[in-house]
Amino acid sequence: MRDEQMMHYLTGLPNAGGYIREVAGRINQGTITNYTAFYFNLKGFGNINSRYGMEGGNKVLVQFTEKVKDFLLDDEVLGHLGGDNFVALIKTERKEKFCRLLNGIEVYLENDTKLKIQSTIGLWDIEETFDDPGDAIGRPSVALQHAKHVLHVPVVKVTDAMLKKVASNKEVLEKYQSALENREFLVFYQPKVDSRTNTLVGAEGLVRWKHGGEMVSPGVFIPPLEENGEIVLLDYYVLRRACEDIKRWVEEGLTPVPISVNFSRKDLLDVDLAENIDRIITNSGIDKKYIEVEVTETVDEQEHGELSKFIKDLYDRGIMTAIDDFGAGYSSLATLREFQVHTLKIDRSFINTDEFSWKDEVILKDIIHMASGLGMNVVTEGVERIDQIEFINKVGCFVIQGFFYDRPLPVEEFEERLKNKVYPKKE
Ligand code: C2E
Ligand code: MG
Ligand code: MG
Repeated sequence: MRDEQMMHYLTGLPNAGGYIREVAGRINQGTITNYTAFYFNLKGFGNINSRYGMEGGNKVLVQFTEKVKDFLLDDEVLGHLGGDNFVALIKTERKEKFCRLLNGIEVYLENDTKLKIQSTIGLWDIEETFDDPGDAIGRPSVALQHAKHVLHVPVVKVTDAMLKKVASNKEVLEKYQSALENREFLVFYQPKVDSRTNTLVGAEGLVRWKHGGEMVSPGVFIPPLEENGEIVLLDYYVLRRACEDIKRWVEEGLTPVPISVNFSRKDLLDVDLAENIDRIITNSGIDKKYIEVEVTETVDEQEHGELSKFIKDLYDRGIMTAIDDFGAGYSSLATLREFQVHTLKIDRSFINTDEFSWKDEVILKDIIHMASGLGMNVVTEGVERIDQIEFINKVGCFVIQGFFYDRPLPVEEFEERLKNKVYPKKE
């Protein structure tokens, strides 16, 4: 590697450009399938940098590089993309050995402090040749992200499912703006029913994406939108559409029920969230009593504070709120104590079972009792069967949202429910 533009200034290893040239060379020679492509970085390198300074960090990188280089055969390649990000092409039969090496490399700092460096590794066994040399960086990098953020393990091999997911997320982000502009996102309404009277008492607005003749579920497009922080536009849009629908129902002489809409915790990054929600409802000309804002709890202390402020802000503006999926993750009594919410939605995990546990029964009874005592409404979601209704009634909750009564319905179908709010008695 003589071309300086193709080298990393610190380690002298091929940089991204240099590495890609090496990969392209092997694709052209037809030898690329002999290799496993690696992407790895150093665990805790941020701490090393903050503790020993940039100079210390650089020293670690240089020594680390030397040790890894010692391992390489002539036709294997190590690249340094920048920071503590490395890539390598290693003969497939030596990949386990390479992983073992990366599991503990010793380096020394000036004062003879010994550090044992472990890496997190993504890898791709190249079984078939391919056209884009960038894949030798991109694919193992997908595995590395999975290792770090999903599986929390040191080594992960890339799979087709991971690559598909990345492609799907990318597609969502690329099409998001135009989908919003073209009104491809629809709001479906899932009824909430009082099981004592079989009467419609509310509904939740749930977003769907009508794309290419298919109805895409939120599980597909919400995570990538949350990740890149753009979900808030969709949540405002859903609220706006719900308000439009409510306005039309009133104009048509129907009596609406309160509609809850979901706001992602990521939306809290928008400091004007409560104000914007208030403005959207007010501008639509509907009565505030027809909207409820659903949010989920959080363990993150900072988020908890923001959430508490947000809920209070909505309360002061006369907008109702609900805690969604209560009991699914880390619920706390502080949620009940601090948050001035109108509704507690019990997560379906409590009833999503064939046999109800006596522990759940005790817990639910007390939660529902406490929530009611605090003046909150309680709704149970995900109810599919009559025995679940019996169980949930027994512990003191009567408002039900679930397939037992209705799935999320297209707006025209939901309007039929508004016209006749009483459900035929079901057994
Ligand atoms: P969620 O807010 O907890 O909504 C309830 C989910 O449970 C809905 O899934 C609903 O279809 C499903 N469900 C309801 N009853 C039953 C049942 O009896 N059995 C089963 N198995 N499932 C039931 P959906 O519509 O796929 O939405 C999934 C999640 O996506 C929602 O969970 C919510 O977190 C999110 N989401 C939906 N719409 C929006 C939105 O406009 N904005 C944001 N930020 N998130 C949304
Ligand atoms: Mg919800
Ligand atoms: Mg929920």
